[in-house]
Amino acid sequence: ATRLINMINNLLNIDRIESGGLEMFIEAVPLSELIESSLVAVVSLAENRGITLQQELPGEEVYLLVDRDFAIQVLVNLLSNALKFSPKGAAVTVQAEATSSYVKVSVVDQGPGIATEFRQRIFHRFEQATIADARVKGGSGLGLAISKSIVEQQGGTIGFDSEEGRGTTFWFTVKRVDV
Ligand code: ADP
Repeated sequence: ATRLINMINNLLNIDRIESGGLEMFIEAVPLSELIESSLVAVVSLAENRGITLQQELPGEEVYLLVDRDFAIQVLVNLLSNALKFSPKGAAVTVQAEATSSYVKVSVVDQGPGIATEFRQRIFHRFEQATIADARVKGGSGLGLAISKSIVEQQGGTIGFDSEEGRGTTFWFTVKRVDV
């Protein structure tokens, strides 16, 4: 029942975000806070799966123009996917690179990669690469669809680079602001 309710809420939120009907509270949020809050949410999943979480962040603090809760939702979703699809004992790394106008946040995993034929559907609602992804890994195929709508509503882009059998890097960009 909880999964069903989450699924319905996610669907409603995607529609609201895409129609501009869900208000976002955009403010300057330190990158370190976004990373910390997101890692806290997935640390027990990482421990359960024996996966090491690593960080590669800029030396100086940078500020992002985002809705704090929605930005955390996106990063938690990318981290949970990376953890779910990684083999035991692997590492998952969150990286961030800043230019003067934007920040690119990436989640790097050593999982199976994204099959070529699945790539153009991966951000669509209810799409999962295999039936086993729902049954064995849980999830509903909505996480990436909602992440895309959040990132785009914040004026950024989302994408991935992947090599089958070697791993995947999911990334998104957000605006940077000086405070
Ligand atoms: P969910 O994780 O709930 O199934 P998502 O929309 O977040 O839904 O992901 C959709 C599908 O994309 C997953 O079921 C999986 O098939 C594939 N996928 C997402 N992230 C990864 C990843 N890091 N490595 C391999 N496959 C992935």
